Amino acid sequence: MPKGEQINASQDHSWAFPDLLTTFKKKGYEFVFFDGLSKENGQVALRHDIDFDTHLALQMAVIEKESGIRASYFFLLRSELYNPFSAADHKNILAIKALGHKISIHFDPTLYEDFHAGLELEVNAFNTLFNEKVNIISLHRPNDFFQQFNEPILDIEHTYQSKYFRDIKYFSDSTGIWRFGHPADSEEFAANKTLHVLIHPIWWMVNGENNIEKLRKYFKQRVADLNNQFCLNSIPFRQIADQV
Ligand SMILES: [Zn+2]
Repeated sequence: MPKGEQINASQDHSWAFPDLLTTFKKKGYEFVFFDGLSKENGQVALRHDIDFDTHLALQMAVIEKESGIRASYFFLLRSELYNPFSAADHKNILAIKALGHKISIHFDPTLYEDFHAGLELEVNAFNTLFNEKVNIISLHRPNDFFQQFNEPILDIEHTYQSKYFRDIKYFSDSTGIWRFGHPADSEEFAANKTLHVLIHPIWWMVNGENNIEKLRKYFKQRVADLNNQFCLNSIPFRQIADQV
């Protein structure tokens, strides 16, 4: 690799999201949805599993739109941390769809005794809420059984099937670090191989020196939001809002 390229690669290791997109774009990568993965080289399926917050997801979606790229967003329908039925989250998810991104379900099979029945319920709800046909899902914190589960569920593909998870190189920023190394450092990136990249908005849309600082800052924000919601919903709470 020429010296200049190495310098660029190290600069691209910031957690500034536009820089990361530029890294892929400079290398000539085409951003595709999972059903658009058709080549051995030059494509990247950019995936976002939304575990915390649709507001951060929308911020990310706007940056992608400005960069002229598209990504696949997967949302939990039964999260304890956000609620696609709520007015704000519903609006955010529809806005992400309107920006041209793919929206679908981030499915937690452990919530159901029968995960086929569970997925059917969620697909119907998702379709009703967002007028979107579900043809691929991602799984939330899949255990070994589901990581090895190489079949579609109810004829719906999922992102841990071998063709998306093993046959092409997979990168993830889970826990706020690049668990399998930074994509730009990989042989596959150097060879312009097709990639699957999972990115969680919380690590990119919240400022902080490291993952712990980002979590600290984000948690504080959520506490403030919760306080605000309590005030909106309860007159007596307003007397103690500053003290709790
Ligand atoms: Zn998840």
